[in-house]
Formats: sequence, C-alpha cells, structure tokens
Amino acid sequence: MTRILENYVADAWVRGARADRPVVSAISGNTVALVGSDGLDFAAILDHARTIGGKGLRAMTFHQRALMVKQLAQAIMARKEELYALSAETGATRTDSWVDIEGGAGTLFTMSSKARKELPDDIVLTDGDFEPIGKAGTFIGQHIYTSLQGAAVLINAFNFPVWGMLEKLGPALVAGVPVIVKPATATAQVAEQTVRIMIDAGCLPAGALQLIVGEVGDLFDHLTCQDVVSFTGSAATASKLKNHPVIGRESVRFVAEQDSINASVLGPDATPDAPEFDLFVKEVVREMTVKAGQKCTAIRRAFAPRALIDAVETALKARLANVVVGDPAIEGVTMGALVSARQVDDVRRSARAIAGEADLVFGIIDSVEARADNPAAGAFISPLLFRHDTPWAAQVVHDVEAFGPVATIMPYDDLDDAVALANRGKGSLAISLFTHDPDVARAFVLGAGAYHGRLVIIDRDSARESTGHGSPLPMLIHGGPGRAGGGEEMGGVRGVKHFMQRSAVQGSPRSLSRVAGKWLPGAPRPQGDVHPFRKRYGELEPGYSLQTESRTITLEDIEHFAHFTGDLFYAHMDEVAAAASPIFGGRVAHGYLILSFAAGLFVDAAPGPVLANFGLENLRFVKPVKPGESIKVVLTVKSKSPRTPEMGEVRWAVTVTNSEDEVVASYELLTMNAI
Ligand code: NDP
Repeated sequence: MTRILENYVADAWVRGARADRPVVSAISGNTVALVGSDGLDFAAILDHARTIGGKGLRAMTFHQRALMVKQLAQAIMARKEELYALSAETGATRTDSWVDIEGGAGTLFTMSSKARKELPDDIVLTDGDFEPIGKAGTFIGQHIYTSLQGAAVLINAFNFPVWGMLEKLGPALVAGVPVIVKPATATAQVAEQTVRIMIDAGCLPAGALQLIVGEVGDLFDHLTCQDVVSFTGSAATASKLKNHPVIGRESVRFVAEQDSINASVLGPDATPDAPEFDLFVKEVVREMTVKAGQKCTAIRRAFAPRALIDAVETALKARLANVVVGDPAIEGVTMGALVSARQVDDVRRSARAIAGEADLVFGIIDSVEARADNPAAGAFISPLLFRHDTPWAAQVVHDVEAFGPVATIMPYDDLDDAVALANRGKGSLAISLFTHDPDVARAFVLGAGAYHGRLVIIDRDSARESTGHGSPLPMLIHGGPGRAGGGEEMGGVRGVKHFMQRSAVQGSPRSLSRVAGKWLPGAPRPQGDVHPFRKRYGELEPGYSLQTESRTITLEDIEHFAHFTGDLFYAHMDEVAAAASPIFGGRVAHGYLILSFAAGLFVDAAPGPVLANFGLENLRFVKPVKPGESIKVVLTVKSKSPRTPEMGEVRWAVTVTNSEDEVVASYELLTMNAI
C-alpha cells in the first residue's frame, strides 16, 4: 500500500483532505508515497506557531534551546537507519545520504555547542559594547537582539531533505522562533520521517515545529513582519515567492538560496606535476558525481590555464571513466540516480542548451548504461563533461544550471581573466581555487570575494583536512550574492541572529544593565559583607562588587619584580631613558606588576567556590604608575554563563585606579565558579 504522508499541525498528525501528489522512487519509478495539504487552515498554523510555539520557546534561554537542539540531533542519530532506508528511494548512495542525514545532525550538534559557548544563558543577546552618550555617563546606548515573535517558514529543496531542513531549523529554534517546514514533494518522505523522529524525541515545546506536506495554500497571505521565509530551490520559484504582495507590503524577511553557477579555478602555478593539479581533477569529478551533481554548491564551471586545458580534459575523462552509474544498492555503483524522471528531463534539456555552444567531451546526453534491475525505470543519467574554448563568447554555460552531473571546462589567459570569468556567474554560493601560491590566493580572493559566498583555497598543505569545495559548514556562512539568492544562512551564531530583531536601546546604565542581563559601566555596584569569591555561581548577581584597600608601589617593588621575572625593560629600570620617553617621563611600574598587585588586593585566598582563573580579556594599561603611587581595585560581576551542571563562567570587570581615582588599567577577568 502506498504510504500517505501526514502534516504535523497544531501538535497533531493530520492527513490532507486529498493526498494525491505522488512521491516517486528514483530507482524503480514506483510511487512510494502520496502527499497533500488540502483542507489545512494555514492562518491557524501560523497562529499556533506564534501564540503557542513562540511563547514556549521564548520562555527558554539560549542554552536551554541549544540543549533541546542537541537532543533533536541525538534522536536523529539514534534512528538514522530509518532515514537511510527512505533516502535510498531518492537515488542517493550511502555517502550521499550520510551528507544529508549525519551532516544534518552534525549541523545541529555544532549549532548547539556554539550557542552554549557563545550566547548567554539568557533570552536577550547584546550586540557589541555599550555606547556612551551623555558626558556624565547617565545616558548610554546598547544594541540588543530579541527573538522575532512570528514563525520561521522553511521551504526546502528536494536534494537534501534532512540537512536542508536542519541547517535552518537549528538556528531558528535557538533564536526562540517556531518552525513551519515545507519540504519539497520529491523527497518529502525523508523529511516527514525526520520530523516524526524530532517530535517523538519529546523535547520540543508545543507549537515549536509544524510540517506541511504538499502545497502551502494561502499561508503567504497571513505573513507579517515577525515571520521569516527561508527558501531553497529554483530561482523561478524564489522570484515568484519573493514577489508575493504580502512579502513586500509587510517587509517579511525573505532569505533565498537558489541556483548558482559555481566555479572552480586551477591556479596558474598548478602544472600537471604539482599536487594541486591532481587535487583539482579529483574535486571536479567528486562535485559532478556526489549526489549525482544535485548540489547547490556543485562545480558547474571549471577554469584552467589555457596551456593546461588539454591536460585537464584528459585527466578528467580518465577519472570519469571509472564512474559507475546505477542503483546504489548494487555493489560497485559510485553514482546514484537523479531524484525523478522530471529532473532527468530537466537536466537533459539544460545539457542540450549547453551543447548548443560547447563541445561534449565525456558522456552521452540521452542515454546511460546504468546498473539496476530495471535501468529504464530509474532516473539515471550519465556524467556529462563539456568544453568551451572561448569562454568570453559563451553565454549558456555561465547562465544555465544543469542540476545534475554536468560541468564545463574552460581555459583562461591570466589570473585577472580567471577572476572575471568566475564572476560571470553573477553571484555564487561557492568557488574554489587550487593554488600553492599565497599571492595568487590573495589576488584571487580580492577580485572574486564580492561575488561569492564562500571561497575555498585548496593546496597540498590543506588537502588532507580540507572539507572540499561543495560542503557548507555550520560554523561558516552559506549563501551567496546575486544569482545565488542574496541570502545568508548558518555561520555559527550569525545564523541565529537572522531570526532575531536588532534594536538600539537607550537609557540609564541602571535600566540598560537590567535589560541586557549584564552589568554596564555606570550602573549601581552594590557591595555586601560577603567577599564575592566566597559566593557560589548561583549567588552572584551582575553588579555585585568589591572595593579593595590601596597599595603603594615602591621602587623596590619594581626592582624586585624586574629581577625576579627578568623583565628589565628600560621604562622600569633606566631613569634617564625612561625620562626621555614621550610616554613614561621617568621610571614606571610594569603593567604585569600592576596586574599581580591587583590580584593580591582582590583575591580571597581560602579554598572556595572560585575554582580557577582561566582568562583575562580586553586588557588596557591606560596610565603609567610611578614609584610611590598607590593603586586600588574595583572588582564587579559583569556577566555569567553556565558551562557544565557543576560550574559556570563568571566574567568580572576589573578597574584599577590610582590615588587620584584615575583609571590606570582595566580588564575582564574570567573565573570558573562552582554552581
Ligand atoms: P522548486 O523551486 O520548484 O521547489 C523548491 C521548493 O519550493 C519545494 O519545496 C517546492 O515544493 C516549493 N515550492 C514550489 N512552488 C511553490 C509555491 N508556489 N509556493 C510555495 N512553495 C513552492 O525547485 P525544485 O526542487 O523543483 O527544483 C527545480 C530546480 O531548482 C532544480 O532543477 C535546480 O535547478 C534548482 N534547485 C536549486 C537548488 C539550489 O540550492 N541551488 C536546490 C534545489 C533545486 P514542491 O516540491 O511541493 O513543489
């Protein structure tokens, strides 16, 4: 019986009134599932996300949401074989599916870990330092991010049903924004099962995740400025959706990741005997065949120095000859099928257009020898390599994305020419350069950077660890200008901010400290009878401080410190030279001596909740301290962040002043405290 995929709406699995859109096996051509979303109330879906999902998520801190995202990843890993089985129906090899399924879970793991390290255990995120405005320091500004109060509508492409969903879902959930997923119909069975696994994990608050299989009905009519549409797919659909009147009228955030004519360039230094030549050839073939070339980042245009183009063609053809097309379930098959017969037609149509101006040097457009029980039923296609010797006269190869195992090689004259040709893609997701010459790398990046979202430089030094041309990484941005859609996703916590609103908040330090969840200069600094080092993590409030006694720094201290440490720099030891210095005007204390004495003033020595001092940031020595002057310290809890169930990081603002109350040094001290 054909499976009917269900929608997950308002925390329940429901079938569309009509489920008649087929999901077809890429291998057998049989219908494996049916989808439909008729009868769903799309306004109610958005409303449920906003009123129930958003409320629940916004009650959690970044850290709690990040831990929830980690649990989702663990649940997917625990049941990954269910997804591999479904993924095989889409024509994917085990490796292709690994990228999608385990790559997707890995993206959630990374997002979770970076969020817990880099975001506060709070619901507000500050952006940059505070801005002093009033002279007396009673009126300041601070940029902050708060969660959008709408929904993230994720419309995904067919090629990576798991990864494509999770790379957007992770940042949205960490940002506190509920998600409505609309997967591509062609691979909806894999996306639906992934959503089932995440719901079964039982860690999501109500309304945080909904799924629409089939069409989105009138959903776009109900979007507001608090919603985000994040789309991956064709430029044509992107343009249609972006031009929906509500998107413009309500200024709905619309992130698009679409067709991209990505390029790879063999550097002018990479002659056939250089390792980079081989690496380039391997990468071009890998990008053509992984996922049968159905990758938004795949290399479509490969450029080589004119003198090397014949050698490149020969090497690529030799390697492509080893590719075995067929059903990945059969031993020895190295490239699977396209997702559907429709995609085969599409890719063949695009290949024929390219053949109108370029020479086909490998493969046959309209037929392929495929290893499968019934090759005629599967969506198989041959890898197709084209060559165009006058790339400036070409048009189609720079314009048409054949979304399959199709690439074109072209010669260039010099590096400027290569850069200009690469940029003819009018904006791409990824570009790679194979060179061992750092000067070539710099010139290339400066010329090409503005046109490409990610630039990968591969050479003999990096090859072993390189993640390759085509792999977007959760810690780096994914997206590209112009034709690639103009969007930006992931990039670590940058991706989280895409689902939040940045606001400039102005007010007194006291108000803004409370708003920002951390002590800001000028805010009250209450002191108590208890030394802050005697308080556990949970007992410390931002602002709590300690004012120390003062200590005089003598010439003997400076001499002692200099000989003890070996730091005999003239400013501390040579009166004549120090007096001639425009900065010191005589011998001064070592900055490190000031730090050491500051610690001696504020430390509470007995064993207690402070487990370790593990860092010091933003250190500035503001004013020299001369022998005979005294210093004192104010130590203030600036912010806190839990690290493990047993300990948390405390960030202290440390200000060292002289007897005139002038700041001589300031820094932030990091300690690990027992919870
Ligand atoms: P589409 O642009 O047709 O579809 C992408 C997503 O949009 C799917 O989830 C699709 O759902 C949905 N969609 C389509 N029409 C609407 C609509 N009117 N309202 C709301 N959602 C809609 O791309 P395909 O997946 O069909 O692929 C077509 C071509 O796009 C490929 O051949 C390739 O050239 C390009 N592509 C590029 C990618 C990239 O990242 N660069 C990735 C994937 C595709 P449904 O499937 O139900 O129609």
